[in-house]
Amino acid sequence: MKLVKKSTEPTATAQDSLVPDKQSALVLVHLQNDFFPGGSLAIPEGDHIIPQINQYIGYFQHQLSAIMATRDWHPQNHCSFQEQGGPWPPHCVQGSRGAQFHANLHLPNGSLIISGATNPKKDIHSGFDGTSLADYLEDRHASTVYIVGLATEYWINQTVLDGMKLGLRMVVLEDAICGVNLKPDDSEQALQEMVAAGTIRATAIDIGAQFTRE
Ligand code: ZN
Repeated sequence: MKLVKKSTEPTATAQDSLVPDKQSALVLVHLQNDFFPGGSLAIPEGDHIIPQINQYIGYFQHQLSAIMATRDWHPQNHCSFQEQGGPWPPHCVQGSRGAQFHANLHLPNGSLIISGATNPKKDIHSGFDGTSLADYLEDRHASTVYIVGLATEYWINQTVLDGMKLGLRMVVLEDAICGVNLKPDDSEQALQEMVAAGTIRATAIDIGAQFTRE
């Protein structure tokens, strides 16, 4: 990981407008088949956020923001799989159907794809850990990052906290995320942890979007 923000640039603050622009990026976290009902590590009702995410994609495109998507992208012998002594069933194996993005997701052509956890010996839970995400954001001069996707208390939480450490303004769009909630309030606790670190919680209306109900 390297620092994205240069010291000469003005620092974005929570008081600045939340309306996305060219210096913004929408990051779609782990919207892959294995994390949806029918997948090997399914999050119940995870698919309910897809229509809202598609509306966000349209809005951020209109605002000329960058669109990026992270994906879990494991080799077959990944250490997080139960056969290798890890906690999870095999999921998101590179090239498999389970690793593909949800068929109803309207991912635009030219979206930047960030593949994570590709090292068989290492599991990671942050879009910034060992990936090109920070470089992509720097290339786009994106200092505000909006997060949607799965799952609130795992990849989203760690990605957001790492983004804060890099000096990025992180905005969690809480009407387009979903948690696993092994304990009922896991998602809410993760959100409170993110906010305590300086993350902004927002919904569509807060960022100037007016979506039609589907
Ligand atoms: Zn994984």
